[in-house]
Amino acid sequence: MPPPRPVIKDGPCFNQVLRRSSWDGNSSHGLLAQSIGGGAVSAIVFPACPERRYFDSRTEIGMGSLQSYGQVLSMKKIFIVIFKIYKDNDIRKETCMRIHFHGAARTVTGSMHLLEVNGSKLLLDCGLFQGPRQETYERNRRFPFDPRTIDAVILSHAHIDHSGNLPHLVKLGLEGLIYATPATTHLADLMLRDAGHIQEGDALFINKKRLERGEELIKPLYTEEDGARVKPYFRGVPYDVSFEPIPGVSARLVDAGHILGSAAVVLDIRERGRNIRLWYSGDIGRPHLPLLRDPVLPDTADVLIMECTYGDRLQPDPQWAYQQLRDMVKVTVQRSGKVIIPAFAVGRTQELVYCLQQMMHSGEAPRIPIYVDSPLAVNASEIFRMHPECFDAETLAFMRQYKHPALDFEQLTYIHAVEESKALNDKKTPMIIIAASGMAETGRVLHHLRNNIENPRNTILIVSWQAPPYAGPPPGGRGAFGEDLW
Ligand SMILES: [Zn+2]
Repeated sequence: MPPPRPVIKDGPCFNQVLRRSSWDGNSSHGLLAQSIGGGAVSAIVFPACPERRYFDSRTEIGMGSLQSYGQVLSMKKIFIVIFKIYKDNDIRKETCMRIHFHGAARTVTGSMHLLEVNGSKLLLDCGLFQGPRQETYERNRRFPFDPRTIDAVILSHAHIDHSGNLPHLVKLGLEGLIYATPATTHLADLMLRDAGHIQEGDALFINKKRLERGEELIKPLYTEEDGARVKPYFRGVPYDVSFEPIPGVSARLVDAGHILGSAAVVLDIRERGRNIRLWYSGDIGRPHLPLLRDPVLPDTADVLIMECTYGDRLQPDPQWAYQQLRDMVKVTVQRSGKVIIPAFAVGRTQELVYCLQQMMHSGEAPRIPIYVDSPLAVNASEIFRMHPECFDAETLAFMRQYKHPALDFEQLTYIHAVEESKALNDKKTPMIIIAASGMAETGRVLHHLRNNIENPRNTILIVSWQAPPYAGPPPGGRGAFGEDLW
C-alpha cells in the first residue's frame, strides 16, 4: 500500500508547489531535495522515515505559514519548506517542538527562525531585514520575542541578511552564546562592525534632512561599537564537530558551499522520548563554484528548513559564467575600455578575483590591472587567506603549486584610501574595477559608475543579485563620498 498523501488544508499542497520548481539536479536546491528523495515531496519525505509517516498541518508554525508558499515561490523569493512528520497513527496532540519563522518568509532577507525545544529557545540566524527604509527600520528595531529569553543562537553564515541583527539582539540583553564556524565568526565580526558604521552614516544622512524639515531625529539601529560588542558571544565550532547549544539538542555544522565558513545546521533533537533530525540549510551554494567545497547534502531529515531563493529556476553551470566574464573582459580590452563590476564585498568579490586570476594565468584573458575598491572586501579577503580549511581541493592544489595565495597576484591591487579610489578616474588604460555594493545602491561603485557609464568603450558588468526595489543604482542616489549622483 502506498504511503498516505500529505494533506495540507490551508495552503497549496507541497507536491503542487514543488512540481513547478526546478528540482532537477541542476540546482543545489534540486540536489538537496533529491538527496533525501526522488523529486516529489512524498518521495523526499518518506525515504527519510523508515516508518510510514505523513505530514500534519497542525505542526506548530508561526509566520510564513503554509499558505504563503505558492505566492512566495511565484515571486521568485525565499520560502521555507518545512516537513514536519509524525509517526503514522501516532499524531502527538500535545505541543512539542515549535518553529516560528520570524523572517525570510514571504521575503528574501531577515532570516530568523526560532525553535522552542525542551523548554529552551534556540535561534537559527538573526538577519537584518532589508527593504524600503521606513519599513526596514521599524521591523529591525522590534524583535517578536524577548531577546533575554534566547538560550543560544546558531549562525549559518556571515551575510548580513542572516547575521545583521545580532548587535541589536546583544544590545537588548542576549545572554546565550552564538555558535558558528570559525571563519563565519571572523567574517561576521568584520561585517557587523561595517554594518554599524553604515547605519551610523545612514542615520546622519537622514537626520540632516529631518533637521531641515524640523522632524524628530532618528537613532541608528546600532553603531559600529555595538557591532564590535558581538564578538565575545561567538563560539567557533569547526565543521562536523558536535556541540550542545541547548539541553537535549546535539548540533553539527556542515559545508553549505555558499560563502567562506557557510554551514547548514544539523540538529539531532531528543524530546519527550522521541528523536527528530532537523536540517536547516542556510543559504545553499551551487556545486562546482570556485574556491569553496560543494554543499553537503542530507541523507536523512525529519524536518527540513530550506532556503529557496533560486529554487524555481535553472542555474547554468559556473563554467558558463566564467566564459561570459572572460569574453566581456576580452571585448572591453579590445576597445580600450574599463570593466566596472558592482559586487558584494564578501564572497562574490573573492570569486571574481579568483576567476580573473585563473583566466589571466592560463592566457585566456589579457593581463590587465584589477582593482578591488572596497575596504570591506579588502579585509574580507584577508580573512579568506586565514581560512584555507574552507577551500576546495582544486584551490588548495593551486595554492600549493604556485606558492602564492589564489587571491593575491601580480595584476591585483587592493584599494584602501578614498584618494586612491578617486585616482582611478585619471587612469585611462584598460582595467577592471570591482567595488561594492553589489546592488549598486551605495558604496564606492557609484562614483565609478558615474565616471564611466557614459563612455561606450566601457562595460558595466552586473554579476550580483538585484533586489527589485533597487535593480541598479537609485535615482537621486548618494555617492560613496556623500555627493549627489544623479
Ligand atoms: Zn547568504
